[in-house]
Amino acid sequence: MLPEDKAWVLRREIVAAARRLHEQGLLPGPSGNLSARLDDERVLVVPSGVPKARLQPEELLIVDLAGRVLAGMRGLKPTSELPMHLEVYRRRSDVAAVVHAHPAAAVALTLAGISLQEAVLPEAVLLLGEVPTTAYATPSTPENRGVVAAWIGQHDVILLARHGALTVGHTLNEAVARMEVLEHTAQTLLWAHLVRRPEPLPPEAIEKLQRVRATYGR
Ligand SMILES: [Zn+2]
Repeated sequence: MLPEDKAWVLRREIVAAARRLHEQGLLPGPSGNLSARLDDERVLVVPSGVPKARLQPEELLIVDLAGRVLAGMRGLKPTSELPMHLEVYRRRSDVAAVVHAHPAAAVALTLAGISLQEAVLPEAVLLLGEVPTTAYATPSTPENRGVVAAWIGQHDVILLARHGALTVGHTLNEAVARMEVLEHTAQTLLWAHLVRRPEPLPPEAIEKLQRVRATYGR
């Protein structure tokens, strides 16, 4: 496949992923943003201010890892959260895609002071791993780059306090699946907390899951 054909396939995949996340209520209005690596030096990213429900493949911009726009439609600029996305690509050569969304239940956990660091649900251990919550940072500013930098080296899913979540993957589908499983996990935890605080998994169960996680998806 020619490099330009590959870029168009990726553009369409990002738009499909954005619509899917929007339909699930994870990207309300113009919020949230997605990006994917084109190659070692270039990233495809969604524009600022365009609702994901009507995002078109040609509206995505190509930027380098320093944030310079290499290609894009006139009048469109990259998402204001681009510094956070680029921080991930610079620190994680294994990451092919980054998703930032505003999943309501997951953000509610950060408001309620309920941590996702504790292993409670086996599927969450397998697909998400430990999920840290960052310190508060102002949305749509480079502050998010700073709070993500502290965690992204060791984690694939990060909660941004009072704001949203960031997921990464070896593929775009993996990053999207992690966002969906994160929100499902958060909803399940919130229901449990309505009755009582759920017990964490016992250490031996977590060890078994971590062994499975090491080979998960291979
Ligand atoms: Zn946000």
